[in-house]
Amino acid sequence: MVARIREEGLQRSRVMDTLSYMTDVLGARLTLSGDMKRAQAWLKAEMERTGLANVVIEPFMDYGTTWDNEYVSLHMLAPDYQPMVGYPLAHTPGTAGRVTARAVIVDMQAKADLAKYRGTLKGLAVLVTPPAAIDVAALALGVPRRSDDELKALEETVITPSRAAPRTVPNPDVLKPEEKLAFYKAEGVAVVFQCESGWIGAVRGFSRPGTRDDKWSREATLASPPVVAVTPEHYNRMYRILTREIPVTVEVEVRNRIGQAVEQAANVIGEIPGTDLKDEVVMMGAHFDTWHASPNASDNTSGVAVMLEAARILKAVGAKPRRTIRLAFWAGEEQGLHGSREYVLKHFGNPKDKAAGVTPGYDRFSVYFNQDYGAGQYRGIALQGNERARQTFAAWMAPFHDFGMRTIAIQSLGSTDHVSFDNAGLPGFQFIQDRIPGTGGHTNLDFFDTIQAGDLMKNAVVMASFAWHAAMSDERVPRKTLR
Ligand SMILES: [Zn+2]
Repeated sequence: MVARIREEGLQRSRVMDTLSYMTDVLGARLTLSGDMKRAQAWLKAEMERTGLANVVIEPFMDYGTTWDNEYVSLHMLAPDYQPMVGYPLAHTPGTAGRVTARAVIVDMQAKADLAKYRGTLKGLAVLVTPPAAIDVAALALGVPRRSDDELKALEETVITPSRAAPRTVPNPDVLKPEEKLAFYKAEGVAVVFQCESGWIGAVRGFSRPGTRDDKWSREATLASPPVVAVTPEHYNRMYRILTREIPVTVEVEVRNRIGQAVEQAANVIGEIPGTDLKDEVVMMGAHFDTWHASPNASDNTSGVAVMLEAARILKAVGAKPRRTIRLAFWAGEEQGLHGSREYVLKHFGNPKDKAAGVTPGYDRFSVYFNQDYGAGQYRGIALQGNERARQTFAAWMAPFHDFGMRTIAIQSLGSTDHVSFDNAGLPGFQFIQDRIPGTGGHTNLDFFDTIQAGDLMKNAVVMASFAWHAAMSDERVPRKTLR
């Protein structure tokens, strides 16, 4: 079976075609956006075309109101003309039409600073972050793949007990980001400019501060000023001119579509049904949601394409797994693993959560595999502290030593959806992946062009093979001691 999987995945791959459709035609997929809903309808149809069964768009949480950016136009008009690149933060409002405004630097950190600016900012474009520093070392040195030494070090590292972090107390005199935005809104600024990017040409902007607490609400969005993240080069140019006390004039127009009602977000689920052990489940997945300023080819369209390709390969080779192989494409990952956490709680439960308890599915669950560490090739797997899975994974990895996939590390990887399983005491794993150059996760520069076919082709083959072994072996993947 491994030979047939390799043959299908390395000689008749469809993974780059899938990646191209998602990045070129569908584009960015912010959780709870019109873009996301359109893309999920495509995903469901694509999973059905692949031959998956029981494909559903499964809602979770009363998440918030939808938000879509429709248009951005950004220019410096004086002292010299410069078209500029920027994107609004998600869940901020648009500008009041096309606005021409004078730009000023605002350096406001403490509550005492408010008085200095009160009554002075009306109708202005405010630059609120210090000039950004470009990481020139990264440009000069490039992005090397993982070296043998680095992988060896990962393998040899043990888990040392961590010390409790010292308690930190927020300084009540320091303004919170939400408080700054409320002040700018009350003062009537035209637009807030910021730059938190250290990469050439890259806009880095996430969500309006406070969205987690106000649950992506329409009211809180409308109570914010427009906020636009700008590339370091264009932001810094304005900033330097202003420090010479030479006036800067900008023209900006941002149009965002803000939903009316609170809506649920949704995961998309599909299956290759099992045979004699069909009530037991093997899962693989990736988050389908992205940030909004690019198609996010690496984060995480590449993971989605690999999982779809792994499923396609299994269907193409006529796999009839004993256990059910279930694919999951999560939403709400970028805002805090919401989709996978809600899914685990609903379908499996959590023994550590006395109120939730566990479902009958908890004991029948075998394993979940995740891809979300960029578009680089798998070089191994992190055990999440689960020593009992070591020999199992070593055996499943053996046919892929020629890919350079041979590392098993005892450590835990974090920050993505396998954590939702791990936290509930269920075996959930993320592969150790290579770094590859050129991809700008979470920026406006994450497109198809820098993704390397060979990496994704190999990943899909490994993923299909792992899912196959997990679905066929006599035992479910062993669990670590629940703590
Ligand atoms: Zn991601």
